[in-house]
Amino acid sequence: MAATTTTPPKNNRIGLTVMDYKGGRTTLCAGCGHNAISERIIDAMFEMGVQPERVAKLSGIGCSSKSPAYFLSRSHSFNAVHGRMPSIATGAMLANRHLLALGVSGDGDSASIGMGQFVHLMRRNLPMIYIIEDNGVYGLTKGQFSATADLGSKLKTGVVNDLPAIDTCILAIHLGASFVGRSFSGDKKQLHTMLKAALAHQGTVMLDVISPCVTFNDHEGSTKSFKYIKDHDEPLHDISFVPFFEDIAVDYDPGTTVDVTLHDGSRLHLRKLHSDYDPTDRLNALRVLNQAHDKGEVLTGIFYVDPKKPTFLDLLHLADEPLATLPLERVRPPKAALDQVMEELR
Ligand code: SF4
Repeated sequence: MAATTTTPPKNNRIGLTVMDYKGGRTTLCAGCGHNAISERIIDAMFEMGVQPERVAKLSGIGCSSKSPAYFLSRSHSFNAVHGRMPSIATGAMLANRHLLALGVSGDGDSASIGMGQFVHLMRRNLPMIYIIEDNGVYGLTKGQFSATADLGSKLKTGVVNDLPAIDTCILAIHLGASFVGRSFSGDKKQLHTMLKAALAHQGTVMLDVISPCVTFNDHEGSTKSFKYIKDHDEPLHDISFVPFFEDIAVDYDPGTTVDVTLHDGSRLHLRKLHSDYDPTDRLNALRVLNQAHDKGEVLTGIFYVDPKKPTFLDLLHLADEPLATLPLERVRPPKAALDQVMEELR
């Protein structure tokens, strides 16, 4: 009888296999871009050796916001009210700064009902990864235009969008997020690399990922279809990422690359495809994004990164020990201090 051989499961640096990062079976439409993003999150978390129990998955409402159920079953998870995920994320990070917050939202959840919360999250630079799974329509309510739909794009029914799109990347850079990029669910390599770099960053990472809705927005006339994005995708750079626990040489020609060292010592190597692009130049990032918009290009890549900007938790001078586990005697002012306050109020 022929001997059968089985390949042992590959373990990452903390001894886990990729199965430890999986979630439930997806209930989204077959071919939905969101499923590809979930797969990239699983791969990036596995390769970076993130402890699943350290992750807090957060979302709002919409097809996108269902996706945290499909990865990282061993992590914490909270599905918030529509558009209110940033408040929950802020509370979670204040209670335990050692969590790794991963928010998954949609263009409806972030750019319409949640816009008030989104802008304040960006300006605070709360340490978290905030992904917008952006398809330009409300998939869960049968495909009406969302606020990120481009001017002139068409619904399946032939209705033309007569309002300009909100560009969440421009907003995020303008407001203070310290790592901002755009990718495409169909670009496995770019998205995977950007997610790994995002895991090494301290501060708000805002990734707008174009993620076509195959049921309501993948037709001729849509500017968020698989075909349109493949035809109009303009990558800014080739991205390589070397995590802090690896030290491999990256072979790039001097003068054509930008290297950024992230908070934990990991390195981002960006080989320029567009001349003069420096991702640490905030004003240039805004200019390039606006120019691409006028030309009808869909720029992808890391537009802006500032690894040194203080986070919201730094600004609050939070103790390193999580507030959630501090004993009462350390979080409550002593009686003498309270008596003094009462005295001053008399
Ligand atoms: Fe994805 Fe669209 Fe289906 Fe929602 S309706 S699961 S966005 S393909």
